[in-house]
Amino acid sequence: MHIEFDNTVLRELPGDPEAGPRVREVDAAWSRVDPEPAPAPRLLAWSPEAAALVGLDASDAADPLFTRVLAGNAVLPGMQPWAANYGGHQFGHWAGQLGDGRAISLGEAIGSGGRWELQLKGAGRTPYSRFADGRAVLRSSIREFLCSEAMHHLGIPTTRALSLVATGEPVLRDMFYDGRPGEEPGAVVCRMAPSFLRFGSWQLPAMRGDIALLRALTDHVQRHHFPDLAGHGAAGDAEWFARVCERTAWMVAGWMRVGFVHGVMNTDNMSILGLTLDYGPYGWIEDYDPDWTPNTTDAHGRRYRYGTQPQVAFWNLSRLAQALAPLFSDPAPLEAGLQRFASAWNEAERDLAARKLGLAHCRDADMALFTDLLGLLRDGQFDFTLFFRTLGRIDPQAADADTFAAASYDAPAHRRVADALGQWLQRYAARLADDPLALPQRRTRMELANPCYVPRNWLVQEVIDRAEAGDASGIGELLEVMRRPCEEQPGREHFASRRPEWARDRAGCSMLSCSS
Ligand code: AMP
Ligand code: MG
Repeated sequence: MHIEFDNTVLRELPGDPEAGPRVREVDAAWSRVDPEPAPAPRLLAWSPEAAALVGLDASDAADPLFTRVLAGNAVLPGMQPWAANYGGHQFGHWAGQLGDGRAISLGEAIGSGGRWELQLKGAGRTPYSRFADGRAVLRSSIREFLCSEAMHHLGIPTTRALSLVATGEPVLRDMFYDGRPGEEPGAVVCRMAPSFLRFGSWQLPAMRGDIALLRALTDHVQRHHFPDLAGHGAAGDAEWFARVCERTAWMVAGWMRVGFVHGVMNTDNMSILGLTLDYGPYGWIEDYDPDWTPNTTDAHGRRYRYGTQPQVAFWNLSRLAQALAPLFSDPAPLEAGLQRFASAWNEAERDLAARKLGLAHCRDADMALFTDLLGLLRDGQFDFTLFFRTLGRIDPQAADADTFAAASYDAPAHRRVADALGQWLQRYAARLADDPLALPQRRTRMELANPCYVPRNWLVQEVIDRAEAGDASGIGELLEVMRRPCEEQPGREHFASRRPEWARDRAGCSMLSCSS
C-alpha cells in the first residue's frame, strides 16, 4: 500500500504551536493531533471507485495495513495527521470556534485524479472536540459512507468515502436527547475531498480580525483549486467568490433534482468547493413535501427543510461574503458574486425542470408547468422518485391519475387530485408535442435526470439494522445498486419501492438528529 503525500495545508497555512488533543481555543488554521487507535478494527466496506482515485485497488484493501491505517491505528510515511480549525453559523447564530471535533485529516494524497485529502471521521478527540468524544457510531458512519458514494454516482458534487471500519469499541449516545443514553458500536469513515475547507474556515479568522489568515486561506485555495485565478489580485478574488457562489447553486440544484435534504446547512458544513459535505441528519424526500426536514434538531423552526435549501445557500454565501469583506476595498464585487448565485440558481432550476420533464430547453411557461406538478405531488402525496420515474415511461396523452396510483402514499389524497392531474397530463402532452426532442431522446434524458434508485432513509436503515446485528453485507449490496442509480436493475425492485409503512415514523428513517 503506497500513497504519495504532499500536505500543503500544513505547509502553507499557519499551525497551532501545541500538538495533541487538549481542548483549547486555537489561533491558527490547524492543529497536529494523532488518531486514537481502535481496539479491534474490522473493514466493513470500501469503495473501489474512491480507492482508484488515490491509486489503490482490491489487493491494497485486502492488506491488513489498509484497515489499520483507515481505523487510525497506523500512520503511513508522509501522513501528518491534523484537525482543522473553523467557526460557523449554526441555525442562524454565530457559534464561534468549532473545528474538526471528530475528524482528523491524515494527509493530501497525490492520486491520478489530482489531490485528495484523506480524512478519518470518528478517530478520536482533537483540540476541537469540546465536551464530546471524537467518536462516531456505526449507524451514522454507514449513512455517510453510502450516501457520499451514492451522491457521486447520481452526478452531484460531493466529498467521497473510501472506507468504513468498525472500531470494536462501544460509543455512548443519547440518540433522542431524552436522557437515556445507550451503547452503540463505533466506526470510522475515511472521507476524501480535494479540500475540506468550509465557509466557516474563513469566517473564524474574519470574526477574529485575522486578515493575514484570511489572505493565506484565499491564496491557498486559489492556488490549488482555482489555479486560473491565482495571482490575479482583486479581479481574481472577485471571480473566485463568484465561482464559489455558482458551484454552490449547482450543487443545491443537484440536491433538489433528486430530492435530497441536507438537514444541517450550517456554514461550517458548506464546502468552499461546492461539494456536498457532512452527511449527518440528511434525508430523501419520499411523499413530496417541500416543508419536510429529516432533522429532529430542526423540527421546530425547520430552517433546513427541502424547499428552502436554495435560500439557505444564499444566506450562507452572504455570511461568507461578509467574512471576505476585509480583503476587498469595496463591496461591489462581493455583491456581484452573490448576484452570480442568483443567476446560476435561476439557470440551474430551469435546467432541472427541463431535464425532469424531458424537454429540450426550459421556456418561461415551463416553470409554471413544473411548479404546478410539484403542487399536485404534494397534494396527492406522491413519492417524488417514483412519480418522475413513471412520468418518463408513459404516454401522457393516454395516461390519467390512475397511471400514478402506485406512486401515492394516500388513496384519498390521490383521488382528490385525480382531475387536476389528468388536466396537467393533457397540458404536458400538448407541450411535448411542441418540443424538438424525439421520444427516445426524451426518455433517455428523463431516465438520467430522474433516478430509479436513491438511498432512501429506510433502505439505509435496513442495512444499519442488519449491520448492528452482525451482518455487514447489506452495505455492499446497497452500494452496488447505487452504482447505477438511473438504470433499472432486474431483481432489485425492493430498492426502488415506496417507503413501507413500518418506516413512516421510525427513528433513523424520518427522525434523525445532529452530531450522532
Ligand atoms: P456537525 O453537527 O457534525 O456539523 O458538528 C458540529 C461541530 O461539533 C463540529 O465542530 C464537530 O466537529 C463537532 N462534533 C460533532 N460531534 C462530535 C463528537 N462526537 N466529538 C467531537 N466533536 C463533535
Ligand atoms: Mg460539521
